[in-house]
Amino acid sequence: MAELRVLNKEKKSSTVQDSAALTTQLAAGLEKIGLAMKSRTWRREGRAGLGPLQRQVLTLLQSKPEQRARVSTVANELAVRLPTASEVIATLERKQLVRRRHDMTDRRVVVAQLTAKGNRACTPTSRMPDRLATATEALSEPEQVVLLTSLVKMIRSLQEQGEISATRMCVSCQFFRPNQHASSDRPHHCDYLKASFGDSSLRLNCQVYEPATT
Ligand code: SF4
Repeated sequence: MAELRVLNKEKKSSTVQDSAALTTQLAAGLEKIGLAMKSRTWRREGRAGLGPLQRQVLTLLQSKPEQRARVSTVANELAVRLPTASEVIATLERKQLVRRRHDMTDRRVVVAQLTAKGNRACTPTSRMPDRLATATEALSEPEQVVLLTSLVKMIRSLQEQGEISATRMCVSCQFFRPNQHASSDRPHHCDYLKASFGDSSLRLNCQVYEPATT
């Protein structure tokens, strides 16, 4: 009996170790993808290209009314410091993708607005690094759904830790009604679009997103 208890204890400890090893492996894998994306992007596009944060700023501005937002709003929504947001916007302005203006109602406030060139730079093909798209296409559709739902969970967790913005995602949107329908394919509901949808359609970058109040 004592032997069985020892065996069970060892088995439990090995399961815990396996799961810890898996977590470490996953974190390492994600880190590698992050590094690859960054280095590929920078290497391919060079100084004239767009870095990940620059892309995020353009995408954020595109989603705003009149494609404009205060610099402080950009900083808040992308969970970066104000000087970082100001610096990125200044770089985008030098590339003529964004223009900066003082707010008409409060001259102390600086507003960034997308230019026509900036708008063109936001097309899905220019936003998605080619190699990342190719890697994603290597997954089967069920694998893509699992990856998407897992990413949503991870991004949500990072947002709760204050490390990343979860804006423009269904899970933090006031119109999102999770698991409202009996259908296993399309259990969620969007009050804005008045449509049901499944995990594979959870949005990470919705243009009509409104933050939930709670
Ligand atoms: S408005 Fe967009 S982000 Fe919000 S629930 Fe609907 S699809 Fe999702």
